[in-house]
Amino acid sequence: MLLQVPRGTKDILPEETPVWQEVESKARRIFSLYNYAEIRTPVFENVTLFKRALGDVTDIVQKQMFVFKQGDDHFVLRPEATASIARAYLENNLGFGVKLRKLFYIGPMFRAERPQKGRLRQFHHIGVEAIGLTNPNLDIEVIELADKLLREFGISNYKFVINSLGCVKDKAKFADLLKQALAKHKKVLCKDCQKRITKNVFRVLDCKNEKCKEITHSLKIGQSYLCGDCKSHFDKVLKGLDKFGIKYEVKEQLVRGLDYYSGVVFEVVHPDLGAQDALGAGGRYDYLFKELANKEIGAVGFAFGEERLMLALPKKESSKKLNVYVMSLGDKAADKSLELVKNLRSAGVSCDFDYSDGSLKSKLNEANKLGARFAIIIGDDEINKGKLVVKFMQEGKQEEVEFVNAVGFIKNILKE
Ligand code: AMP
Repeated sequence: MLLQVPRGTKDILPEETPVWQEVESKARRIFSLYNYAEIRTPVFENVTLFKRALGDVTDIVQKQMFVFKQGDDHFVLRPEATASIARAYLENNLGFGVKLRKLFYIGPMFRAERPQKGRLRQFHHIGVEAIGLTNPNLDIEVIELADKLLREFGISNYKFVINSLGCVKDKAKFADLLKQALAKHKKVLCKDCQKRITKNVFRVLDCKNEKCKEITHSLKIGQSYLCGDCKSHFDKVLKGLDKFGIKYEVKEQLVRGLDYYSGVVFEVVHPDLGAQDALGAGGRYDYLFKELANKEIGAVGFAFGEERLMLALPKKESSKKLNVYVMSLGDKAADKSLELVKNLRSAGVSCDFDYSDGSLKSKLNEANKLGARFAIIIGDDEINKGKLVVKFMQEGKQEEVEFVNAVGFIKNILKE
């Protein structure tokens, strides 16, 4: 039987990688405009990190961690990077001497979920973390940066959905209000949600069961649980988004799946993605550092799912094409051709050689399939004349060029 990739994982094939590279290089360019520096943390961490950071009763920790044991140690393939980056920030003292550390990351994440469209077991995040301050202007910058990235990728029709969970006290008040409101409907909720009311009431708001959704959508809790400071922080963020012309919808059911979130939380949704409609998500997590190291450090960030970005991108032809495909006929010509291939590459012209023993026709066919702009043909005849043939693949014409002038000839046309 043919071996296959594990369910919920995907090969990103050579036809697809140019788009991934383009998205990532655009993201890197924009991150550097906003003064974010890249951080690369290991893809596995000690299991305690995620239990402490995400919360014991979150879905990720309870059901979705790929855990493995090595000797006496238990590790987990990272389900997300925020906890790892917080760990790295503390461990490497990245806050030393600076008020704010702006970090970005790009890489694979792993969650043992039931695979379905838009939901993989290995997927990729592009994300940022701004660590050190609680200023609402920073929330605005982070959301504006997310918006800038999407626009730069050419994605449209997305929408920001935003809410505030408030500080720890507010969040507890919010949880109580939810519990009271949901208790009245307990019998109608699904079995899982009946348990969630006591264990982790916020999870009820993410339930996909139609009845549960109907009930949660009918709840009218508003932002009544927010204290004065958190309310004014939230208002400032919304005003800032208005000023930047960023469209959003305030949604009181938005809570995010992880315990560490507090204050402003947001998601970016796109109508073309179907049931899994979140392109990305983020928010404040001012209490994560308290949880990990008993330190008061404000932080805000977001992560986009790269696979979902790919689904929302406008379709276009890849612009990365091979410039030249060189082919020879006869042994003498092969030596000369390989010398030319080397010279073209040294001059920065992408170039490949046909190593097969096939006919000229089959070699030209290959050049066509590769989408090469030019085919260069060198045979014994050409060697004797000190010339070669440049075939313009699209235009269907060809020219004889002196061997010594070949690199300059190609470079000149590519410049046009
Ligand atoms: P989260 O860390 O769950 O807030 O996820 C942030 C973003 O990552 C989501 O909005 C999705 O775009 C993407 N994402 C999360 N989980 C998956 C998954 N299992 N498969 C593919 N993309 C995912």
